[in-house]
Amino acid sequence: MSGSDTSVEMTTAASSAAERLRITEIFHSIQGEADAIGWRTVFVRLTGCPLRCVWCDTEYSFYGGNWRDIDDILAEVASHGARHVCVTGGEPLAQKRCLVLLQKLCDAGYEVSLETSGALDVSTVDPRVRKVMDLKAPDSGESKRNLWSNLDHLLPHDQVKIVIASRTDYEWAREAVAEHDIDQRCMVLFSPVHGAVEPRALAEWIIEDKLPVRFQLQLHKLLWHDAPGH
Ligand code: SF4
Repeated sequence: MSGSDTSVEMTTAASSAAERLRITEIFHSIQGEADAIGWRTVFVRLTGCPLRCVWCDTEYSFYGGNWRDIDDILAEVASHGARHVCVTGGEPLAQKRCLVLLQKLCDAGYEVSLETSGALDVSTVDPRVRKVMDLKAPDSGESKRNLWSNLDHLLPHDQVKIVIASRTDYEWAREAVAEHDIDQRCMVLFSPVHGAVEPRALAEWIIEDKLPVRFQLQLHKLLWHDAPGH
């Protein structure tokens, strides 16, 4: 093999490695939350998360997964014939090449959303993507990880989601929304932790305090009770 053949092979291997992501699952279902609730959606779940929220319902995505070429991922997404694609995790932004996937999905004409923890920088996410960004309330055990500067990178089509496990979480969320004018930046979603706070109690607190936020229950939990693949 000549020197130039070797360098071509090395370049090919490097560019192929640069186009791969570790994927836990790709599945076709109904979007269960946020602005696109109810739409038939393809979910691309990336493996890995640097956080450990106590109420996490996707711990199976922390480890394992399979390396997949981004072009392969795009082909599988296309095979489901859905207009909406949700890139989720784990924490998808923990893999830098997630940004490439998001861009390519947008280029292909999908309505793309990204579910992210709010702990990693979102400033370089393609502006066509609808970010659904968590702020972690105290009972998650991870509120120290909130990257508040992310609020400055939200666009009007984005959403901030706060998962609430207690009255303490609710009061924290209420103060955070007011202090940072989050509702002036984008839609704010308050969602109860299943089994921790009564959904009706959360709804009544929101009404009582006349909050500018949207209450949500996770539709996929009502439909499929958290079974993987939905
Ligand atoms: S950020 Fe999301 S995936 Fe990571 S531990 Fe928290 S809830 Fe689970």
